[in-house]
Amino acid sequence: MGKFGILYIVSTPIGNLGDMTIRGIEILKNVSLIGAEDTRNSGKLLKKYEIRTPMISYHKFNERSRVEKILGILGNGEDVAIISDAGTPGISDPSSIIVRQAIEKNIQVVTLPGATAFIPALISSGLNCERFYFVGFLPDKETKRRELLESLVLIKDTLVFYEAPHRLIKFLIKIKEVFGNRKIVIARELSKLYETYYRTTIDEVLTNPAMITLKGEFVIIVEGAQEKEYSNAELTEMLKTELDIGKSKNDAIKKVQKLTGVSKNKVYSLALKIKENLK
Ligand code: SAM
Repeated sequence: MGKFGILYIVSTPIGNLGDMTIRGIEILKNVSLIGAEDTRNSGKLLKKYEIRTPMISYHKFNERSRVEKILGILGNGEDVAIISDAGTPGISDPSSIIVRQAIEKNIQVVTLPGATAFIPALISSGLNCERFYFVGFLPDKETKRRELLESLVLIKDTLVFYEAPHRLIKFLIKIKEVFGNRKIVIARELSKLYETYYRTTIDEVLTNPAMITLKGEFVIIVEGAQEKEYSNAELTEMLKTELDIGKSKNDAIKKVQKLTGVSKNKVYSLALKIKENLK
């Protein structure tokens, strides 16, 4: 078999077209084909930089079927680039399937450093950016969303989320239910005219939602879990909440332990006391 082409993953601006890199433009000019999430949207970018390379659509609904075609082109020794609507493909955008398949076939994958929304948001947030955890969008389904949030509750690293404007307040209500009140930074419209940072807390926004202009695009940076000493009264209250919704004693213990990180023995003895008081 002849030599394969290279698969390039190219970041595009998240608002300010000036954030396209020189190397990114050169690669997009030189590849044989560009797989774009939305060819109409990317058409504007290509026009601005006089890139005349043909495009095909490559989005989450046709990703699997497009992989075959793109691998065929790479197999002929031609280079292909993948771009998304904004930022870096693979970050809450398609590209993982083609990347994995290319690696499996020993095709070289070159990802260019470039624009993405969460890095500027994290750095300007002023919260700890030495260690962070990128979550992206929460799942739509309530059970999956809750499961994920509960798995994050004890993480001390800064948490990074993406959310759409019309769901932002609901998102804050959901994270408050699991995390309690925390410091947050809401980064809006990065690199655009109305770029704004709201350095605040979950409670502050929930008591005064009007403080946020709910238009545009948002990254939400949430402070990681702080060391917290739970009093017996707090733990008992949490256990009671779980028992009240019909959980068995063992399930209630597991849940409270998972949410607080307090030792199983301690939670167990408090649960026994509740049961004894009920007798
Ligand atoms: N691939 C992109 C990246 O590298 O960041 C993310 C794509 S994801 C489909 C779109 C989400 O990214 C938006 O809903 C928003 O949460 C975030 N985002 C994209 N552009 C943004 C911007 N200019 N300002 C704030 N958030 C942005």
